[in-house]
Amino acid sequence: MKRIDLHSHTTASDGTLTPRELIKLAKKQGLEAIAITDHDTVSGIKEAKAVAEEIGGIEVIPGVEVSADYYGEMHILGYFLDIHDPVLQVRLEELKEIRKRRNHRMIGRFQKRGIHLTLEELESETKGELIGRPHFASLLIKKGLVNTFQEAFNKYLAHGSLCYVAKEEVHPKDAIEMINKSGGVAVLAHPVFLKAKTRLKLKSLFTELKEMGLTGIEVYHSDHSWKHRELFLGLANDLDLCVTGGSDYHGTHKPYINLGVGRGNLSLSYDLLDRLREKQSLKLSA
Ligand code: AMP
Ligand code: ZN
Ligand code: FE
Ligand code: FE
Repeated sequence: MKRIDLHSHTTASDGTLTPRELIKLAKKQGLEAIAITDHDTVSGIKEAKAVAEEIGGIEVIPGVEVSADYYGEMHILGYFLDIHDPVLQVRLEELKEIRKRRNHRMIGRFQKRGIHLTLEELESETKGELIGRPHFASLLIKKGLVNTFQEAFNKYLAHGSLCYVAKEEVHPKDAIEMINKSGGVAVLAHPVFLKAKTRLKLKSLFTELKEMGLTGIEVYHSDHSWKHRELFLGLANDLDLCVTGGSDYHGTHKPYINLGVGRGNLSLSYDLLDRLREKQSLKLSA
C-alpha cells in the first residue's frame, strides 16, 4: 500500500529536522507523499520540494497549520497552497506578528517570576524565523530550570499554566478563507483537542466550520485513540467532509511520535490524498 503523512513540522516552525532532513526521512520510511504543515509559515516548502525533486519518488504537498480560536484553541490545516500568493504572504506575516507579540508578553511573564529569558536566546533555539512554545521549552531545559520538555509545558507553557499567554484571537472563518483564497483546502486538525467533546457538540461545530468553507477533518492523528478515530470518521462521513490524517511529527521535540506511523499505529493510505485533491479540483472549477 502507498502510504502518506499529511501533518509534519520542520525547523521552519517548531520541528527539529530541516526540510531537507525531513524529506530524506520520509523517503527512508517509504512514504509516497508528505505534507509540510508548519505553524504560520510556508518557508520550509521550497527546500522540501527541491530535495524531493532531487531524490525522486516522493511528493511534497505545500501546507500550513494556523491557530484559531473558537471556544478554545483550534488548529486549521491548509493543503495545496499557492505559496507565492501575495495575499497568503500578507496574512502569514500578520500571524507572525501576532506570535511575536505573544512571545514578548510571555518573556515578560517569565521575567516577573525572576526567570530571565531574552529574545536572542530564544532565537538561538531555532534554525527558522519562527518562535513557538517548544523553543521556550528547549531554552528552559538548557538553563536547567526544568528537566523535560513536558515539564516545561506543565509548569510554564501549557494553556492555563504560569507563563502561558494566548495569542490574539483569529476566527476560524478567517483562517479557512485565507487557505481557500490561495487555492487550497482547509482541514480541521486533531479535533481531540477541541473543547467540544460530545458527538452532538462536535457535529454542530463541524457543520458550522463546513459552512465557513472547511473541506475536511483530520480523523487519523497520533493523539487520537481508536475510539476518537471512529467518532470523527462517522461525523466526517455524515457531513460529507474529507477524511485526512497525519502524525504531527516534530522531531525530538516529541520523540515518541514518528513520521508516518505516529505512536506506531498510524497507516495512512494514498487514497486520502487522492480524495482531498479531487475536492480541491471541484472547488477550483466551481
Ligand atoms: P505555539 O504555536 O507557540 O502556541 O506552540 C504550539 C506547539 O506547542 C505545538 O507544537 C504543540 O504541540 C505544543 N504544545 C502545546 N501544548 C502542549 C502541551 N500541553 N504539552 C506539550 N506540547 C504542547
Ligand atoms: Zn508544533
Ligand atoms: Fe496542532
Ligand atoms: Fe501540528
